[in-house]
Amino acid sequence: MPIQSFIPPQRTLMGPGPSDVSPRVLSALARPTVGHLDPTFIGMMDEVKSLLQYAFQTKNTYTMAISAPGSAGMEACFVNLITPNDTVVVCRNGVFGARMIENVQRIGAKAVVVDGTWGRAVDPQALEDTLKQTPQATFVAFVHAETSTGALSDAKTLCEIARKHNCLTIVDAVTSLGGVELKVDDWGIDAVYAGSQKCLSCVPGLSPVSFSDRAAEIIKNREIPVQSWFLDQSLVMGYWSGEGKRSYHHTAPVNSLYALHESLLMLQNEGLENSWARHKAQHEKLASGLEALGISFVVPESERLPQLNTVHIPEGVDDAKVRQFLLNEYNLEIGAGLGQFAGNAWRIGLMGYAARNENVLLCLAALKEALAR
Ligand SMILES: *Cc1c(COP(=O)(O)O)cnc(C)c1O
Repeated sequence: MPIQSFIPPQRTLMGPGPSDVSPRVLSALARPTVGHLDPTFIGMMDEVKSLLQYAFQTKNTYTMAISAPGSAGMEACFVNLITPNDTVVVCRNGVFGARMIENVQRIGAKAVVVDGTWGRAVDPQALEDTLKQTPQATFVAFVHAETSTGALSDAKTLCEIARKHNCLTIVDAVTSLGGVELKVDDWGIDAVYAGSQKCLSCVPGLSPVSFSDRAAEIIKNREIPVQSWFLDQSLVMGYWSGEGKRSYHHTAPVNSLYALHESLLMLQNEGLENSWARHKAQHEKLASGLEALGISFVVPESERLPQLNTVHIPEGVDDAKVRQFLLNEYNLEIGAGLGQFAGNAWRIGLMGYAARNENVLLCLAALKEALAR
């Protein structure tokens, strides 16, 4: 048979991402492509910047979207700010903290690790203790919302501690942006990266980032060039800002940026606080339904991410069989456990457009039937 057009099934995405994309965002994607230096497109990019400033709650001029997924946003923050002379204190309480350490080590800098328990928030006291013993530290890096475990860390307090010890901060907000409170300026975050496909209801492939003035200064005054040409922000900014005369760096993913623009506009129309409240309300509904099914949470209540619910797989239940049943019978995707939690936990996402009443009800009904079998 000749190859035919790919028509994907209509799934409900309640895993760790990508999450359900809003139909409004999907239709924005299908609008006609324009040149990436077209004046109308440049106007739209300026709007993306200001919508991102709202989403991040920042006045940072250095706010834009990297043309690649969240992992590239992570790498952009590290390779632009860190040089081999730096000592970076990295908090690790899941998979993504471990990736931060990889980034630091590949740059040739020193990573000092604050190890935490999987499924728990980063312990501020442990960070404080490590910083006291590491006076040469220049940066602190941590994950705000650990998608591998479902734990939310207290970014405000961690940034305060870092500042007290004269360190700049790099914060992973891939899963937090739009889903839980995040205040880049109030909390004094110096570099932050996010993802389009988690709580923004957008397609995968873009990574919003923002750098404080202090971080931008470091990037401008680097003596050694950033080893990644593509992610070198001093070059990328010539395209995203350029004050009237933009220079070609790479071809922007034009249609994907229409999608991000639409999703950020939806977030602004809903209001950030309302979006956080919606994620929390849906989480509470899901949590009480799961508990009624005898399914318990991995993360203590005060440290739970509303948008990513990590739960123990009940005794005697076949992990893969249940997830297959949900997918085949309900077109419903939930996430498997990752790392230490592989095989013993599920990760149920309520991110962005997926954080809706009908999704919670579908998930509970489907799980109930799956467990009954
Ligand atoms: C999903 C995720 C990433 C990576 O994003 P990609 O878009 O998959 O590259 C990084 N950090 C966290 C916390 C994430 O949840």
